[in-house]
Amino acid sequence: MDLKRRIEEFKEMEYEFNKDFYATIKEQQHPHTLFIACSDSRVDAETLFQAHAGEIFQIRNVANIVPREEEPDTHPSVVSAIEYAVIVLGVENLIVCGHSNCGGCAAIRNLEKYKEKLPYTAEWISQSITISDYIDYRYPDMKEEDKIIMLEKLNAVQQLDNLMTYEFVRKRVEAGDLNLQAYYYNIGTGTISVYDYDSVFSDMIKEITSNRKLMYELKTQADSFNHIE
Ligand SMILES: [Zn+2]
Repeated sequence: MDLKRRIEEFKEMEYEFNKDFYATIKEQQHPHTLFIACSDSRVDAETLFQAHAGEIFQIRNVANIVPREEEPDTHPSVVSAIEYAVIVLGVENLIVCGHSNCGGCAAIRNLEKYKEKLPYTAEWISQSITISDYIDYRYPDMKEEDKIIMLEKLNAVQQLDNLMTYEFVRKRVEAGDLNLQAYYYNIGTGTISVYDYDSVFSDMIKEITSNRKLMYELKTQADSFNHIE
């Protein structure tokens, strides 16, 4: 892959050809949407929305995860970008996009296997382990490939609940000022399913969230007990 040639072509073919457009965005950005998606190279916001530079503020990470506000492992990288987009840029839409054949979600199903080889990834994606455990508990007879698809969808919708733990998001959503939705992009068909915060998965997400809170309380108790020991 000749990257040098690609950036030269950008300057000659794209930038010079659309100079007037680039002049309109050189001082400021006014994105209408914050798009939180997986790092997967096939999930491309500009392509999906047929958008131009300056329209979409993006956060990309493995398995499109948003850390919950109340949990002890803070990840300011993700939350700082959300804070900036919601408070300063005033985006109208906040979209979390999951996708088919997600390597991150598949790895959540085999977390133990990755702990040694990919310790940072394993730690990051373990934030969604309660969703995977819930699927095993609720659908013990489901085929593994279907469990992974369900995890990819539930994981995207779960992030809406995670986002709502932040007051600056919650306030704008409850005021009807911020459109909060999860997408599931099927790369094999080009179809995008759209889920609102209040969706067919709402009851499941409530159960997962209460399991998760319980798990963290038990972990915190165990940690403090070990500390005393
Ligand atoms: Zn992915």
